[in-house]
Amino acid sequence: MLLTTPAVVLHAFPYLESSRILRLATREAGVQSVIAKGARRARGAQRMTLDLFVEGSAQLYLKPGRDLHTLGGFDLTRTRPGLGADLGRFAAANALGELMLRFVSEEPQPEVFDAFVAALDAVAVAPPGDAASAGLQGAWGLVAALGFGPALEACAVCLAPIPPDADATFGHAAGGVLCPRCAAERGGRRLPAAARDDLRRWTEGLPRPGALDVGTARAHLRLLREFLQQHLHDGRALRAFDAWERDPNGG
Ligand SMILES: [Zn+2]
Repeated sequence: MLLTTPAVVLHAFPYLESSRILRLATREAGVQSVIAKGARRARGAQRMTLDLFVEGSAQLYLKPGRDLHTLGGFDLTRTRPGLGADLGRFAAANALGELMLRFVSEEPQPEVFDAFVAALDAVAVAPPGDAASAGLQGAWGLVAALGFGPALEACAVCLAPIPPDADATFGHAAGGVLCPRCAAERGGRRLPAAARDDLRRWTEGLPRPGALDVGTARAHLRLLREFLQQHLHDGRALRAFDAWERDPNGG
């Protein structure tokens, strides 16, 4: 079956003498593994540009029951050169790519793909040395599009409202903020009111006002990583996230 779909390159490595194997985020068929035969040998108009995070219209030959499909063509629409121009932007884009690789199956999830490309666009033009805020907004937007956005207004367990200006406790297993009574029973990580306000904006696709200092960025990245690990259940490390957390803005 031939499927033409918007797609973004998440991972690319050489295969045999002249081919490449790619992991693609696609709008119509989730995340797919494809082989681009002869992609490294072709020249001129035949050559497909398949660098990390480029976006294009991909022609996929999908074989039912197979794990590896064939890429017939890739018509480039966006290259986002800004991602490679700043280490912090690249670290954030890598973490967003890792999120796609780990959370998205071969099922079509167009709204997740749309959130992903919007996040890449925002990160690609983030101020140099200050990409963490755009990256966090993109990551929480992706989490919301995946359908497990955290409860932020009311207790995730008993639904008691939590005033917007109050510090709260974040319970990873419960999937959001906890009231004092449920927090005393279950424990969790302290979430200052300002940080909760950031999360609220990011999950709604709104930017946080002002720059994000490194300490606050790290605290946010730790909370996000713990939340993702709680919902992954497979115990594997999130390597790109770990690297991003160590150095949120690329030095
Ligand atoms: Zn409660």
